[in-house]
Amino acid sequence: MSRVYNFSPGPAMLPEEVLQRAKEELLDWHGSGSSVMEVSHRGKEFVALAEQCEKDLRELLAIPASYKVLFLQGGASSQFAMVPINLLRGKSKADYLYTGLWSKKAIAEAKRFCTVNVACSSEDRNFYYIPSPDTWRLDKDAAYVHYTPNETIGGLEFHWIPETGDVPLVADMSSTILSRPVDVSKFGVIYAGAQKNIGPAGITVVIVREDLIGQPVAGAPVMFDYKVHADNDSMYNTPPTFAWYMAALVFDWLKRNGGLQAMAEVNKRKAHKLYAAIDGSDFYNNPVEPESRSWMNVPFTLRDDGLDAAFLEQSKKAGLVALKGHRSVGGMRASIYNAMPEAGVDKLIDFMADFAKRQG
Ligand code: PMP
Repeated sequence: MSRVYNFSPGPAMLPEEVLQRAKEELLDWHGSGSSVMEVSHRGKEFVALAEQCEKDLRELLAIPASYKVLFLQGGASSQFAMVPINLLRGKSKADYLYTGLWSKKAIAEAKRFCTVNVACSSEDRNFYYIPSPDTWRLDKDAAYVHYTPNETIGGLEFHWIPETGDVPLVADMSSTILSRPVDVSKFGVIYAGAQKNIGPAGITVVIVREDLIGQPVAGAPVMFDYKVHADNDSMYNTPPTFAWYMAALVFDWLKRNGGLQAMAEVNKRKAHKLYAAIDGSDFYNNPVEPESRSWMNVPFTLRDDGLDAAFLEQSKKAGLVALKGHRSVGGMRASIYNAMPEAGVDKLIDFMADFAKRQG
């Protein structure tokens, strides 16, 4: 069996070294005679793992002490609700930047809890750009401003952090977290589902400024209250222990491989060479404005969509899998998260050139 280069948007590729280690430890974790899945989350060994995991994440992202780090369940989709539930704090409205299909979902969910002010939208041009901040209609009385720094489907990414003054900034970093260093102190809340740059699906990271928690909306379910999880070290109920363990292995791998600065350099290089290959050919196209192109998700179309099926079939044979684009965009999408080796991107670029040549 040989491993392929997997361009899936998520669940996505994990570092091979991490998978190997999980395999080696699977039947007998740290001499316990059990797998990590079979031990109590409240036992000494697992608590030590959880503590190390948080410590490593804090170190990787330089998270200030005034922030809580939570390891939850329910995916980023649950955060679409948990954010308003916890951050409204007596207010009735929130600002949302509308830049793609994930921000659309966040907006729809927030509307169940408050008045949503869509401060800007790029829907008019199919989410191919980020509206200039001087056109945003931010409300100074909003409870928070929510945005999606990387739109996984459209391949649109903010390479800068919006300025929102005293209004807390909330970011759905699901598909960009850990791809580069980020100044956490600029945010009220950062959240991310795990299945791209953190680990397997099933665990959700929430980084929240301490002063923002403790005033959930009336009637909020206990499991949706950040404070409950913060006060219980994310063990109010049984956590997804295997996913947590895998995240810990990924954080350890990141630390041993130069941390986020090193990831950023490689990620930038991988993305730039792929966009250069697309732009340099009249066979492929990426419509996103160049300064807002994602480092993590690179959608592209072929000159003739009648060739999509052949492209997918032949790329798969070449060991390049899961390149089919999202149905709303069409064409292809190469998701190139941290665990995608640069050699995988090089191989994709070579394949693309060869395919285009063969089609004339
Ligand atoms: N936000 C973004 C930016 C995503 O890419 C995804 C998943 N692809 C989600 C939210 C939803 O995440 P989950 O499936 O973990 O709920």
